[in-house]
Amino acid sequence: ESYKSDIVIIGAGGAGMTAAIEAKDAGANVIVLEKMAYAGGNTVRAKGGLNASETKPQKSLGIEDSVQTFIDDTMKGGKEINDLSLVTYLAQNSSAAIDWLLGIGMDVNGVVAAAGASKPRMHRPVDGSSIGNVLVSVLTKNLEDRGIDILYQTEATELIVENNAVTGVKAKDAKGNELTFNADAVIVAAGGFGANEEMYASYRPDIKGFITTNHAGATGDGIRMSEKIGAALVDMEQIQTHPTVEQTTNEVISDSVRGIGAILVNEKGVRFTNEMLTRDVLSANILAQPGKYAYIIFDQNLRNNMKAIEEMVEKGIVTEGKTLEELSATLKVDAAAMTKTLATWNKAVADKKDAEFGRDTGMDASLEMAPYYAVKVAPGVHHTMGGIKINTNTEVLDTKGAVIKGLYAAGEVTGGVHGANRLGGNAVADITVFGRQAGKQAAQFALANG
Ligand code: ADP
Repeated sequence: ESYKSDIVIIGAGGAGMTAAIEAKDAGANVIVLEKMAYAGGNTVRAKGGLNASETKPQKSLGIEDSVQTFIDDTMKGGKEINDLSLVTYLAQNSSAAIDWLLGIGMDVNGVVAAAGASKPRMHRPVDGSSIGNVLVSVLTKNLEDRGIDILYQTEATELIVENNAVTGVKAKDAKGNELTFNADAVIVAAGGFGANEEMYASYRPDIKGFITTNHAGATGDGIRMSEKIGAALVDMEQIQTHPTVEQTTNEVISDSVRGIGAILVNEKGVRFTNEMLTRDVLSANILAQPGKYAYIIFDQNLRNNMKAIEEMVEKGIVTEGKTLEELSATLKVDAAAMTKTLATWNKAVADKKDAEFGRDTGMDASLEMAPYYAVKVAPGVHHTMGGIKINTNTEVLDTKGAVIKGLYAAGEVTGGVHGANRLGGNAVADITVFGRQAGKQAAQFALANG
């Protein structure tokens, strides 16, 4: 079977759906291919918000921020290997992205501080909901309102190239039937490869065997397809791990649980690290423990003070003990060692001095209110920062730096924006700013060349 449209978009995550809306509003007709039975990809899992500077919500909250500070923070966070032109474009267009989101019915009026940002610039719903869920439902509704079709369980397999330009996509449907989608422009928005162990271990043998926080569809198809027709790839070995992932549900245990006072112990019941170190260092320290895992330990006082902990309890991933002895017995950890660890820690909190590991933040609460709780955690693959090389028009570049005609890419499938380390809040900023640009640029190209 074959189809024809101005634009074909591969992937109905945040970047793909954003591009679809912009392309349609620019006058192009659009088909979106989604290999899973659902939209949202990794985007729906985004917890925080999106970073943006010099925005209306910031101004109404009296927050002074600048595009330049946003650029500087992002470059510093990425260890300065980010593509400066992409980072600059991201920051310069972030305020307009907030206006656009507000315009399509998305609440991004809340602004909070986040790691690596020198000003509060993470925008999210005012009630503090995780952004991913809300964003995906707003985007999906906007596609419906515009009559844009998402073909689910339709997996793109190949880009079609004619006369040095991309002119469509080959795909297969749920029954394995081959489909051909002819178009004047193609946008690759198929996300990263954090769920493809063979692929991430090939770039990073040291993370072989890690579980992933990603959805099952994050298998790197878009990167492979583009590479096959000559696209350049950048920073493929830059893969962000999250240190504290529950290993049976792949649920991320937020950094903020340690931030309000939880500690980490190993299977012997002893602390082994400053729990507030950066994600990469903490991941390595956990992997150096026997069994390559750790327990996050907290008490009823922390549970009383954090909604996220209550959500963890509801998900059934928290082990509870009426006493420290009972918790230790359930975990099969030496109770005497555990008792000594908590006594030492509580003294460190009281003295405001962690003589063992030099922790100096997240020490406002001692752990002494029963019941006690534990979650077994180990590092997991979280975000793949590398991917397809693009310019600020989201045009895909080949290995010689030339534009591949008719091919655009946006979102986690691309590389360069985050460098060696992505700041929280920059993934949703990336998909919104560059998703919009891809939709506009592809529409312009398709309408001029169709
Ligand atoms: P981003 O944040 O960059 O938008 P997401 O992970 O949210 O990335 O979305 C990417 C989407 O692309 C996912 O819904 C995923 O299932 C889809 N996808 C991945 N590979 C293919 C493919 N070969 N064909 C169609 N859709 C795909």
